[in-house]
Amino acid sequence: MTAINETFGCKVFGKKEMQKRLPPKVYADLMHTVEEGVPLKSATANAIAEEMKNWAVSLGATHYTHWFQPMTGITAEKHESFIEPDGEGGVILKFSGKNLIKGESDASSFPSGGLRATFEARGYTAWDPTSYAFVKDDTLYIPTCFCSYDGSSLDKKTPLLKSCEALNTQALRVLKLFGNDSAKKVSVNVGSEQEYFLIDKKVAEKRPDLMLCGRTLLGAKPPKGQEMDDHYFGSINHRVSEFMKDLDRQLWEHGVYAKTKHNEVAPGQHELAPVYTEVNTATDQNQLTMELMKSVAAEHGMVCLLHEKPFNAVNGSGKHNNWSMSTDTGLNLLDPGKTPHENAQFLTFLTATISAVDEYQDLLRASVSGAGNDHRLGANEAPPAVISIFLGDELTTLLEAIENGAEYHSEGRKVMELGVHTLPTFKRDTTDRNRTSPFAFTGNKFEFRMVGSSASVASPNIVLNTAIADTLKRYADELEGATDFNSALTDLLVKEIKAHKRIIFNGNNYSAEWIKEAEARGLNNMKTTVDAVPAYVAPKNVDLFSRHGVFSKAELVSRCDILLENYYKTLNIECLTLKNMLTTNIIPACFRFEKDLCELILTKKQLDHSARREKWYLDTVSSSTGKMLDSVFELDSMLAEASTMLTYEKAKYYRDNILPKMEEIRLVSDNLESLFPKDLWPFPSYTDLLYSVK
Ligand code: ADP
Ligand code: MG
Repeated sequence: MTAINETFGCKVFGKKEMQKRLPPKVYADLMHTVEEGVPLKSATANAIAEEMKNWAVSLGATHYTHWFQPMTGITAEKHESFIEPDGEGGVILKFSGKNLIKGESDASSFPSGGLRATFEARGYTAWDPTSYAFVKDDTLYIPTCFCSYDGSSLDKKTPLLKSCEALNTQALRVLKLFGNDSAKKVSVNVGSEQEYFLIDKKVAEKRPDLMLCGRTLLGAKPPKGQEMDDHYFGSINHRVSEFMKDLDRQLWEHGVYAKTKHNEVAPGQHELAPVYTEVNTATDQNQLTMELMKSVAAEHGMVCLLHEKPFNAVNGSGKHNNWSMSTDTGLNLLDPGKTPHENAQFLTFLTATISAVDEYQDLLRASVSGAGNDHRLGANEAPPAVISIFLGDELTTLLEAIENGAEYHSEGRKVMELGVHTLPTFKRDTTDRNRTSPFAFTGNKFEFRMVGSSASVASPNIVLNTAIADTLKRYADELEGATDFNSALTDLLVKEIKAHKRIIFNGNNYSAEWIKEAEARGLNNMKTTVDAVPAYVAPKNVDLFSRHGVFSKAELVSRCDILLENYYKTLNIECLTLKNMLTTNIIPACFRFEKDLCELILTKKQLDHSARREKWYLDTVSSSTGKMLDSVFELDSMLAEASTMLTYEKAKYYRDNILPKMEEIRLVSDNLESLFPKDLWPFPSYTDLLYSVK
């Protein structure tokens, strides 16, 4: 077996490969583009394209694709082969700088939320040289941005890059105030822990709901779920272990630093975490990780479920977005320093994050919304829909001391007096990790735990970066003009802590008391996607995004529309799937069972036997069948009613009428399933599914 360090990144056209293949001048020009954003010259692009193609062909690639992230949340690709006729009946392999830099796709079927008129259905893809190209399935993948004819972004990468730029600009201003002139760039680092389920393919394929919706719409609670906590960190079974090894190998070849793997809380549930990296790369790599999880699972005869809530009554899956900012000189801005000076700088960036999360809690909530995540947030397994920050006792006490101008004591020692120049040195928080917090400070980074497992991490990071850029801008605006920097900073921090401390909560976020208290504190509690998404077009948020050049108002309106449309379309597919499962499988199975029972009752009566219990069974099955049948007709008329509604109204209608009706049907069906003879019930049970990978 080849050593990992030899195969790591072998399918990536990364720095090492480029340095090896590109003429030094071309490489230097490219780095200039990557680091400073200067446009690439066409001669340079041609030289890169030629070498990129040669490298890809040497790995067996026959095609190339501009890989982009439209607003569907998944990635899109259209494959073009390298071949061109050579005029003599043969072919040559060609790939020009133009092919590399810009693509044009007839993208009229991607959601644009009205941004692209039908007469101008073209979409353009533009190479993002900051994320490396790679080879997968005999194709060269070129990470790209996707925009419309007039330059409006139609994807998630473009605004993400803009938000990084906004944060970079403002963070550098603040760093300068602390006398840091050596840092040239501030970047965002993200490590996303990814949860998923593995189900045996043969079993999963018998469930139309899993195959079409990614989640079970029906299914009685299994006798044994996760209550014994025997799966979490448990030993990994052979089949799963083989899958994980294969996945690691493929991820490593594609340059993803897959690091940690373990069993999660629910049976059949697992997690993978990579080493953190720059957010643009981390976002692309997370998309690639999800794709590889699915394809590797299929190779192993399994289905990988990335849905946020595939099963009722067992934990759903999330994605923890670990977030921090660092300079090109290697300084983590969320790392408490050792000297008072470093600490003041740390406290400034920390406070900026706290202010931003409080001020834009609505946007953060909106950034993690989606039909799937609605089932998970607030279900006592994931943070509630209320955003709050966990800081730990030590930092909280410290901020209180700053706010009150009080002395701060640590381990019996007085370590702070008034004034920023004497801010304390303190150690990393030693308090127990709070696993219930949606946004937890974990020593030198924040962990945003509300992201759904199937979602791209782009949206939450766009919001985080822009919101924090905005508070940093406010700080810089205020401090740049100050005559006495230290006292101006103290005043600013005191003011900010006072204004935003309501967002700090170190207690149990799953408790009912917290929800009440959060309300008293005036925090948002947006329970569903339909409540949350309109935050994108709230005037203060439109201002925020335009101020930093991340989104125009038109782009936000279109995004809001697309998200609501995705929501009701998802529910619509679920509704149709459920109806279908009822009418073509469950209700006919009920009739069969009723027939058996009728025959049994008649025979018993002929023999002068009591058929009391059988009749009870018959009545129960019969009335449940009736209820389900009635509900199918009710769903039909609801769907008809919704069909003429406009987007927002329609999304609300699906949430308030169709979803509850589906839940109602589920209750009836799940009760019935637990009474039914196993061989007559048409679908694999929860036990069959959750314990299918042996
Ligand atoms: P856990 O949260 O499960 O205890 P860790 O804290 O070790 O695990 O790391 C979780 C994730 O956070 C990993 O992907 C890790 O690379 C990432 N991470 C660690 N440090 C940082 C940082 N400074 N910035 C961003 N992500 C980080
Ligand atoms: Mg974690």
